[in-house]
Amino acid sequence: MKMKAAVVRATNQLTIEDVLLDPPKAHELLVRIHAAGVCHSDLHTYKGELRAAPPLVLGHEGAGIVESVGAAVTKVKPGDRILVNWLPNCEHCMACRRGQPNLCERLATTTLVALLPDGTTRLQTQDGLTLKHYLSAATMAEYAVIDEASAIPIPADVPFEVGALIGCAVATGAGAVIHTAQAEPGSSAAVIGCGGVGLSAIIGCKLAGCYPIIAVDVMESKLAFARELGATHTVNAREVDAVDALRSLTRGGPDYVFDSVGAAATVSQAVKAVRPGGAATIMGMHSLKTDLPVPAGPLIAQNKRLLGSFFGSSKPQVDLPKFVELYRAGRLPLDALITKRYGLDDLAQAFADMEAGHVARGVIVF
Ligand SMILES: [Zn+2]
Ligand SMILES: [Zn+2]
Repeated sequence: MKMKAAVVRATNQLTIEDVLLDPPKAHELLVRIHAAGVCHSDLHTYKGELRAAPPLVLGHEGAGIVESVGAAVTKVKPGDRILVNWLPNCEHCMACRRGQPNLCERLATTTLVALLPDGTTRLQTQDGLTLKHYLSAATMAEYAVIDEASAIPIPADVPFEVGALIGCAVATGAGAVIHTAQAEPGSSAAVIGCGGVGLSAIIGCKLAGCYPIIAVDVMESKLAFARELGATHTVNAREVDAVDALRSLTRGGPDYVFDSVGAAATVSQAVKAVRPGGAATIMGMHSLKTDLPVPAGPLIAQNKRLLGSFFGSSKPQVDLPKFVELYRAGRLPLDALITKRYGLDDLAQAFADMEAGHVARGVIVF
């Protein structure tokens, strides 16, 4: 079938064009996309900063309605509402059997190199160029073919745009607090970087019962979003020394610091600011290609912990439905996280707004 999609033919080349999508195979389904989140990972991929190389169709946060299913699909049927999980773990590799599906061996062989789990693609341009599916998802398109493991059903009262965010930003940010660091009620927390993942971490800190919850960023606009979503204090790292500010707000350093930026400077701040014996967690995909110099002195002499968090240590099939239920119960203020909606043709503007800090989270709606 022919459909409109966000195509990256080569690094730094973004076009919205009609492409061809093959029907789903036995374990796959065709989903009509209603909403797709605009995430930094898409932008980094378009700029050639992550492992997935073009040509590909962008997008990995999405939700929509199942149009048709392959012969072997049992989990969903046409007409079902689903969110797209970009981590379609296999359930039988060592990592999956160990209970760490966020580290599934499929990540290296197919997901992170933008193929469907069977190692192939269903996409091509009208002039015959094979396109890959970013993170086995390719949701910045009118339709997507995904593996059955990528489909998580959502009830009728969960908006598609909310479902889209749960599959990435929420799992990564809130998951880092709840699953990776396992912050306990009453613990103090700071979040460095208030984009979609950082703001989701603030939501996670509130859910975990942390106090204070301190947001750190260099843009006032983002700090305002953070306050709205649960931050009790904010620090503008352009105006004051973030490490000093975090220490003085918590009498010696937060119990937990979460870094969503992944830059050498912010990871260093996280390790320095966290209290002796506390845990600094690095989350998000931004730094996958970066080697980070880590201040080893405080790490060792002050018994600090430095944790890496991939997909918030979340188990897609278990935790994504939990986040859906928490949203339905009013415990995740995700409607407030979405501050701007765009058409697919406006994707370049959506990326520009994200880089300028004008949005908490932008969403493409179809
Ligand atoms: Zn994402
Ligand atoms: Zn696996």
